[in-house]
Amino acid sequence: MSSIDRSQSVGGTRTYEVRTYGCQMNVHDSERLSGLLEDAGYVRAPEDADGADVVVFNTCAVRENADNKLYGNLGHLAPKKASRPGMQIAVGGCLAQKDRDTIVKRAPWVDVVFGTHNIGKLPVLLERARVQEEAQVEIAESLEAFPSTLPTRRESAYAAWVSISVGCNNTCTFCIVPALRGKEKDRRPGDILAEIEALVAEGVSEITLLGQNVNAYGSDIGDREAFSKLLRACGKIDGLERVRFTSPHPRDFTDDVIAAMAETPNVMPQLHMPLQSGSDPVLKAMRRSYRQERFLGIIEKVRAAIPHAAISTDIIVGFPGETEEDFEQTLHVVREARFAQAFTFQYSKRPGTPAAEMDGQIPKKVVQERYERLVALQEEISWEENKKQVGRTLELMVAEGEGRKDDTTHRLSGRAPDSRLVHFTKPDEEVRPGDVVTVEITYAAPHHLLAEGPVLDVRRTRAGDAWEKRNAAEKAKPVGVMLGLPKIGAPEPLPAVASGCGCD
Ligand code: SF4
Repeated sequence: MSSIDRSQSVGGTRTYEVRTYGCQMNVHDSERLSGLLEDAGYVRAPEDADGADVVVFNTCAVRENADNKLYGNLGHLAPKKASRPGMQIAVGGCLAQKDRDTIVKRAPWVDVVFGTHNIGKLPVLLERARVQEEAQVEIAESLEAFPSTLPTRRESAYAAWVSISVGCNNTCTFCIVPALRGKEKDRRPGDILAEIEALVAEGVSEITLLGQNVNAYGSDIGDREAFSKLLRACGKIDGLERVRFTSPHPRDFTDDVIAAMAETPNVMPQLHMPLQSGSDPVLKAMRRSYRQERFLGIIEKVRAAIPHAAISTDIIVGFPGETEEDFEQTLHVVREARFAQAFTFQYSKRPGTPAAEMDGQIPKKVVQERYERLVALQEEISWEENKKQVGRTLELMVAEGEGRKDDTTHRLSGRAPDSRLVHFTKPDEEVRPGDVVTVEITYAAPHHLLAEGPVLDVRRTRAGDAWEKRNAAEKAKPVGVMLGLPKIGAPEPLPAVASGCGCD
């Protein structure tokens, strides 16, 4: 390990880059890691920079080949590190929690390994690695500080994640989360609401409550209705326009939560609830405590209380022991539930989970064939459900970076209250991410909607002001310290990386 040569850094300040893998929990943890590093004096590496002085990998352990990919990526960085004096590499997140000092044995050029419970230590460990000129591996067995108490560099000016709990008390057999994130720990409601109020005061108008098993919130503080109370309390915060949450577990989806969703105007008509399988024997083998009937019962109640709700899900195909009949049951639930969207996964062994050791692993060919049938069915349903939106007039929150073709099509993109993605014609007047536009839906594709007519109304919001202010501040920074806009826009209401209780 070499000492730091600051001449390599941009504008004399050391730069950093955080590479994030996995679920929303990791995306939000990365906002904390960025905040910690900026608090310690680092600046984010410009997008066009040739690397950064500190590269942090925030890893995910749920994929079968996650470790091979990590070591591949670390291998690519080895020559870079050799040619860049003072460069440091840190590995954190679930894979670091699981593999610990194996990481520095396999990649001795790594400077710091930290776990899921001690992300606040990153700057100290980097400094210690530099001073002592040896790798620092520090993994805590339980949470040191609730991550929300750490500094944050929020990726969006108008929408924010708010963590309400970490860890999970369930023991789903395919999931490594309980082993790596520990038992559920709830934040006090007062702390959560204070954070939301502070965010709203800064201009944020949409929040997503985040937890591995978000609606179990309260089990750790002895209040079974704490989650519905929290939703209702969010409804009383002036200026908070949109509240979402992810990911709930069907077991804890009680009637008081449905009532709170229906009766709190700023809680959006959207629900992402992981099904995983429609077969009772497979659910039992997964150690998921609900059954098909209960899952469909929840959907029915949600639809009765919130008729326009868009419901999405996660499904695993080919869990060990899944028969054709079991799979047919999953297709049955998909037909009945009419999900707006489903994140579908082929089961793969996750080392360290009970399911990886189970008999009856399904041949890849069979899994693939079932997977294709499921995807085809879901595509058909997604499209049919989207077609029902044509002719509706919707309020969209303008989004940043969600329409890849917006420049060529002269459109902008936004999210409807139910979180459907809508591309709309760019109006003459300026609209900013965070502003709200009213449009009429004219066309439906399976995964997005179009509003091809003129925008009916533009509402400039405090969130748009906040975006504009932040954008101006970023641009005003000296060239070379930080260029352009943050890479990631608002948290995606429907996750691009499936949440599956944060497990897939
Ligand atoms: S799948 Fe979700 S509920 Fe199950 S153990 Fe993992 S985090 Fe907990």
